[in-house]
Formats: sequence, C-alpha cells, structure tokens
Amino acid sequence: MNVLVINAGSSSLKYQLMNPETGDVSAKGLCERIYIDGRLTHKVGDNKVVKDIPMPSHSEAIAAVLDILVDPVDGVIKSVDEIDAVGHRVLHGGMEFSDSCIIDDAVIAAIEKCIPLGPLHNPANLMGIRACQAVMPSTPQVAVFDTAFHMTMPPKAYRYAIPTEYYENDDIRRYGFHGTSHKYVARRTAELVGKKEFKMINCHLGNGSSLCAIKDGKCQDTTMGLSPLAGVPMGTRSGDIDACVVQFICNKYGMSVDDCLNMLNKKSGVLALSGVSSDFRDLEAGQAEGNENCVLALNKFFYEVAKYIGAYAAALNGVDVITFTAGVGENGPETRQGICDYLEFMGVKLDAEKNKCRGKEMLISAPDSKVQVWVVPTNEELMIAQDTAELVNAAK
Ligand code: ADP
Repeated sequence: MNVLVINAGSSSLKYQLMNPETGDVSAKGLCERIYIDGRLTHKVGDNKVVKDIPMPSHSEAIAAVLDILVDPVDGVIKSVDEIDAVGHRVLHGGMEFSDSCIIDDAVIAAIEKCIPLGPLHNPANLMGIRACQAVMPSTPQVAVFDTAFHMTMPPKAYRYAIPTEYYENDDIRRYGFHGTSHKYVARRTAELVGKKEFKMINCHLGNGSSLCAIKDGKCQDTTMGLSPLAGVPMGTRSGDIDACVVQFICNKYGMSVDDCLNMLNKKSGVLALSGVSSDFRDLEAGQAEGNENCVLALNKFFYEVAKYIGAYAAALNGVDVITFTAGVGENGPETRQGICDYLEFMGVKLDAEKNKCRGKEMLISAPDSKVQVWVVPTNEELMIAQDTAELVNAAK
C-alpha cells in the first residue's frame, strides 16, 4: 500500500510517500514559498532535486508533488492511481476529534469549526486537504490530529480552574499537542518493553517540547495546553508563565496582547535566556566556551523538564518507563543526563556509555535503575500512514 502523508503549513507543504506496513519511504520532500513564488525539494534515497515551480496556492504545490512523483526520471510511481490514500496532519481537532478519521464534508466542517483554536495551522491544513481532493477526487483522505491522542485526559487534567462558562461556551481547556508523536512512541515503547499495561512519561524534546503522562497506552496528562505555548520552556517559547506577566508588559510598553504573545512564542525560551540561539547544539557549544547565559538556558530547561517528570510520576502514582524523543531527546546525551540527574531520588540511573547513543532506539538506563529509560526516535509520518491505512482498509 502507498500512503501519501501531507503536512501543510501556511506557506509550506511537506510530503512523504510511504508503505505503512514496512515504514519504507519511497520519496519525500518539501514545497516552500507557496503564495510567494514556489520551490520544490524532492528526495528519493540520496538523490535530491530542487525545482522552482510557481505555486500561487496549495493546489499548485500538490499538483507539483504529484507531477514529480510520477515523473519518468525523478518519480517513483507510474501513475497517481498507485497512491492508495492520503493522510493529512491536522493541528487542532478541538473537542470534535478523539481519533483520526476519513475526511468527508462533515469532517471538513468540524475542522473549520476548530479554526479559532488553531488559527494559524488549521486553515493551512484545510487548504492541503482541499487541494488533494481537487486533484485526486477518488482517493480516500484521512485527517490525523495533533490533539486527538490527548482526548483520554480526565477532567482534572484538562479543565482550567477558571469560570465554567469559558469551557462550556468557548471550549477553553487543555488540549495538548505532539499527539501523533506521543502516540507513536507509546506504541513503540509497549513493543520494546513487551508490555501493554505500564506507566510511562514521554519527553518529546525538540524545537517545540512537551511531556506526556501515559498509562496503559492512554494519555493522562500533557504539558501543552489550549495552545503549544504552555509547559516547559522551548526553543523560542516561554512555556508556562504567570498571566500577569502579559498584563504588565502590555501596560508598561503599550504592546497589544497579540504582540506580547508573539514575543512569548517566537522570542522567548532558551533563545531568550541564552541570547545566543534556540538550537541546543549552539547552547552546548556556548556552554563549552564558558558562556554563562547558555549554561543558564540549559539548566533552566533540564530543571523544568525534570520538574514535570516528578509531577507526572505523582500524577501516575509511579512510573515504569521514561522515554526521550524528537531532535534533542534523540540526539542530546547531555540533555538526557542533565534531566536524569534530578531524578536520582526516584531511582533513575543512566548507563553513561549507552546514553551516548544518538538517533536510535536504545535502553539507556543502568540494569539496577528502578525506572527504565529509553531513547525512542519518533516517526510522526509513519503514525499518520498507519492510521490512514487502518481506517481505509476498515472502510473497504
Ligand atoms: P521540531 O520541533 O522543529 O520538529 P526537532 O524535533 O527537529 O524540532 O528538534 C530540533 C532540535 O533538535 C534543535 O534544537 C536541535 O538543536 C536539536 N538537535 C538536533 N541534533 C542535535 C544534536 N546532535 N545534539 C543536540 N541537539 C540536537
């Protein structure tokens, strides 16, 4: 089976053509500068092709992707009919979606209804869906939501302690994000530890970061909230912050709430604390040169992630497995060590040699550690392809 996985952003569109059974990727790429001019970068194995193609909208971007997939030289399939289904990443499913689903008119209307919750991403995701429907009308399309995995949270985790009317009238609550990644890592970890019933805390640490408390494969709590701004500090996001900070800054500097939120999303986090970069490799280089701001940024990050692990160990009443995933989680031994140093009281002990691993599945805790610690590289595209295949096969 061939599933085309689409992740449409406001001016970009990423794609992968993959086999959901084996995880083999036959081709992948990126359309950039949609609405500006348009550039396609297409990769098959180690071969890379870059083409400037006018993309006045997402429709032309999708058309360019399909054209290159069937191209006699750079393509990997003979005809678009060989694409059995399309899986779309959709940011916000609000309270409408607790699982992936086959796209029909009602699903499109429900994704539209969630636009106020995901104002930047949902419209772009919808453009990707509509563009695919236009050029391949008989191919089934599936929506996979970043929020869906978290819909098993109990009310005590998802409700904010604010007047009920905002929840009842406006759906204001914790939703959480990175759900496709947390779901993939939860499933893969169950296979790795050979158990279905266990308590785990997954640390998705990338440019955006979130933690998820998972019991028997189901989300119990997560650090992001109504939006991805909440939780631990990130590359450029502040993470949790007292709402009065917004009031103070807006009043003192005559800033609008939108501008202040833009500052908290794009100019904060480890970028702000270090004054150097949002990239952990730059922070580690700065630390090695004795830059105290880089040291502070890294320490703040380790501290806040460890604090949430402690909180989630309490929320789950124990923890059997801690997993690290995404860019920093998979590739940052220093970060993993820095976080786990706080967790000695829980009996967490890393194997220093095994913790040197980068980008591959590995049990990195010592044999006498009370909690298993794993690196489990995430694969959101594979999760999207698998959900898509499952739904399309079940509908046959
Ligand atoms: P996104 O949230 O954009 O998907 P990623 O999961 O790709 O982000 O993570 C990006 C982060 O991963 C960057 O901060 C980068 O520094 C970090 N990273 C990648 N490789 C390494 C490495 N070898 N050591 C430390 N950090 C790394």
